[in-house]
Amino acid sequence: MVFVPPRRVLVLRFSSLGDIVLTSAAIASLKGAFPQTEIVFAVKAAFADLVRSNPNVAQVVTMDPGEGALAMARKLSAVNADAMLDLHRNNRTKLLGLLVRGPRRRVTWSKRPFVDNIAVRLRLRPYRAAMTIADRYHLAAEELAEQTLPRGEMRLWVSAAHQAEADAALAAAGVDAARPIAALSPGGTAFTKLWPVERFAELAKKIAAAGAQVVVTGSKGEGALASAIVAAVPSATDLTGKFGIGVLAGVITRSAVFAGNDSGPMHMARALGTPSLAIFGSTDPRQFEFAGHAVMFAGVPCSPCSFFGRSSCPEKHFRCMLDLDVDRAWAMLSPLLGGRRALPVHG
Ligand code: SF4
Repeated sequence: MVFVPPRRVLVLRFSSLGDIVLTSAAIASLKGAFPQTEIVFAVKAAFADLVRSNPNVAQVVTMDPGEGALAMARKLSAVNADAMLDLHRNNRTKLLGLLVRGPRRRVTWSKRPFVDNIAVRLRLRPYRAAMTIADRYHLAAEELAEQTLPRGEMRLWVSAAHQAEADAALAAAGVDAARPIAALSPGGTAFTKLWPVERFAELAKKIAAAGAQVVVTGSKGEGALASAIVAAVPSATDLTGKFGIGVLAGVITRSAVFAGNDSGPMHMARALGTPSLAIFGSTDPRQFEFAGHAVMFAGVPCSPCSFFGRSSCPEKHFRCMLDLDVDRAWAMLSPLLGGRRALPVHG
C-alpha cells in the first residue's frame, strides 16, 4: 500500500528541558521528509519557549500547571491531528493516547530496554546505553513514517525578542560583548550529577586568566553555586535566576564556550552550536552525541549507576566526579575557547 504522509502530527513531549531539546532532530527529520505535514507540539507551558521558535513546528499546545488530563485531551483533540507521536511515554501520555480524538496512527517511543530499567534500578550492574536518546526518537519518527528517514539536526532557535533581552541582560551586568564569554552551569537535578562547585571555581580562574569573561547561569535555587564561583573570581557574573529558558538560550548563543554538568542547559548549548564541555558522573554520556564538543567522564567501574542521578553516592567514594580534576577540564575546554574546531573528545 502507498504511504500517505500525515496531514498533521501531534507530538507529545511535556518535559523536561533536555529531553525536549533532544526531540528537535527527529522533528526536523519528519518535517524534512514531509514538508506539507504540520507538526503540533504539546509541552508544559514552562518549556514552551524551547519549541515556539522552531520553524519545523507549526503550533505549540501548552499544558498549564495543574491542568488535568481531561482538559488537556480536549485541547489536543481540537488540534485535529491524524497522527500522534508520543515521545514522552508516561502515565499521562498513555492516558492522552486513549482520550485524544482524531489520530489514526499512534506511535510511542521506547526510552530504553525494560531489562536495563530493572538491572540499573536494582544496582545489579552499571548502565550501558546501547543507543543515543536522539536515535531512539528517530526510530519512533521512522515508525510513524513507515520508512527510513535521513537524520535531522538537533537544534534550538532563539527568538529575536529573547536574543534582545539576553543582550540587554549581559550589558546590564557589565559583560563586554566584544570579549569572549564562557558560560558555566554548575547546577543539576541530583547531587551525583554535580561536579564539585570548588572545581568550577578553579576552572573559572583559569578561564578568567585566559582573558574570557565568566558568566554563571542556572535557576534561582542554584544561586549559592554561583556565589561560590564569584567569591573565587570576583570578575565573574552571576546570572542565576535572572531569566527564563528563552533568554538563557540567547546568553548561551552569545557565549564562546559553555561548561556544565549533565543537565538541560548542557543540551541547549550543543543545540545552539556553542562549543561545550559536558561533565558526567553517575549518568551515561553514551546516551548523547558530542561531535564537535568535549565530554569528561571518569568511567569508574561502578558508573553509570543511575539514569537520572542520585541524592548521594551509594559507594560513598563518589569517584565518578572526584576523579575529574580541574586540569583535565581545562585541557578539554581551552581548545574550545581558543576557537579551534574541537574534535569529538571522550576523556
Ligand atoms: S561513584 Fe558513586 S555516584 Fe558515582 S557512579 Fe559510582 S556509585 Fe554512582
